[in-house]
Amino acid sequence: MNEYLGRVNIVTNYLNFINGEWVSASSGEKHEHFNPANPSESIGFTEVSTVGDVEKAIEAAKAASAGWKAMSSVNRGEILRKAADILEERADDIAKTATQEMGKRFIETKGEALRGASILRYYAQEGMRKKGEVLPSAANGTTLLAVRVPVGVVAAITPWNFPIAIPIWKMAPALVFGNPVVWKPGQETGITATKVAKVFEDAGLPAGVLNLVLGRGSVIGDVLTTHKDVAAVTFTGSNAVGQNIAKLATATGKKFQLELGGKNPAVVLEDANLDLAARLVVDGAMKQTGQRCTATSRAYVEASIYDEFVEKVIEYADKITIGDGLQDGITMGPVASKKQFDTVTGYVQKGKDEGAELLYGGSTLDINGGYYIEPTIFGNATHEMSIVNEEIFGPVVALMKVADYDEALQKANDTIYGLSAAVFTDSLEKAFHFMENSEVGMVQINGETGGAEPQAPFGGIKSSGQGPKEQGQSAVEFFTTNKTVTINPYTK
Ligand code: NAP
Ligand code: MG
Repeated sequence: MNEYLGRVNIVTNYLNFINGEWVSASSGEKHEHFNPANPSESIGFTEVSTVGDVEKAIEAAKAASAGWKAMSSVNRGEILRKAADILEERADDIAKTATQEMGKRFIETKGEALRGASILRYYAQEGMRKKGEVLPSAANGTTLLAVRVPVGVVAAITPWNFPIAIPIWKMAPALVFGNPVVWKPGQETGITATKVAKVFEDAGLPAGVLNLVLGRGSVIGDVLTTHKDVAAVTFTGSNAVGQNIAKLATATGKKFQLELGGKNPAVVLEDANLDLAARLVVDGAMKQTGQRCTATSRAYVEASIYDEFVEKVIEYADKITIGDGLQDGITMGPVASKKQFDTVTGYVQKGKDEGAELLYGGSTLDINGGYYIEPTIFGNATHEMSIVNEEIFGPVVALMKVADYDEALQKANDTIYGLSAAVFTDSLEKAFHFMENSEVGMVQINGETGGAEPQAPFGGIKSSGQGPKEQGQSAVEFFTTNKTVTINPYTK
């Protein structure tokens, strides 16, 4: 780290937030952040926490638990409402930081910040909704209640690809339902995380209710998942890490929720509006440089319209302008890191080697040394290829020709993943059939595979997710537990 000291653009070291204080990690180690649009530009340093730092954060959360639970949910919601206002005021600054940290365009990170504010407002209202049910009892004069109560300390482990909205859609419901939180963000987006945590601090959250621990998941992940005072773990990230969390959480008796990867198909039928389908397949694949768990990564196209569809897809892809996401007029930024760059270019090479037809893109671009990859479209791909089976998490989509709807549905479902899927058709019958038979958590009829609203459940099935879904009313399932109360008022 010393070699960077004295460089003028190194300004800030971003700290952990534990028990209401901004503190250094006990390791003395820092992680330096570079801009993926210009990797010689340093954005700052974040702390690298130790297991001991995380234990302190968990203790602080545990200590804050009783007070937070005792505050009425209406008043807890009021704090979230304030956080929404502050987040909106700071949206430009937080979005700029996120863009500099992980390359997503400013318009996308700003959209994420504003989405964060609407999630906070949605869950602020939740504090005013019912928190249980009155059930009939078999005994005369007895009242039977099923009351929703907090689960306890929640560990939230989040990825870098939605550094603002994903943490908020975990923390907002956790908090409003009365649970303190220890949050471990993706290391790549630790600076953005400090700014999001500051929003909650400034909204008036009591000390210890939200704690931020920066650092490496490989070092501090296990303690977050197994500590005796953690009651529940909510995780979004890769399948490999998610499966490990499931194993550890099961062994230590914790509640867990996993949102994992996807390999999301679009089915394009001959009666579809092909302009709409081509635009939304390209958008679905290339938005956020393909780094969305819900990105469209394979499309099954009826043979009769395949050639026409390919032409239209290329036409839309050709409209994409690549560059630094802070600049106006750019429609695709770099991928988030050198690691992403290497993984995605590796898949592009595999696509070529395995014999898919490269229809568009396929090269890297050198703009200020940034991690730029062209929007890449493969055609005539087959179901066995790696680019059709494995999550790429980059601006790459594979098109496949199918004989008919039945073949498309069968192939769309033939995957370990089950996050989202789209069908483009004017046939009510096929749209309904797809809605009912597509093996995913989220279906789009004439829409792109991505897209979520705070009031609707979000998440996948099969290897794409486990546990209750996120957002909307589903969050109640994960962040509360039922307490059954029997009241016998007549004792004489
Ligand atoms: P990742 O490597 O699994 O990281 C996710 C989080 O887990 C990060 O905070 C990471 O910390 C942490 N982590 C790493 N090792 C850990 C361990 N042993 N124990 C506990 N936590 C650990 O995933 P990613 O590469 O950041 O994100 C991309 C993946 O997320 C893709 O597979 C994508 O599909 C998925 N994703 C899913 C959804 C969804 O809702 N279904 C949404 C977005 C992304 P470090 O950063 O320090 O390694
Ligand atoms: Mg990782």
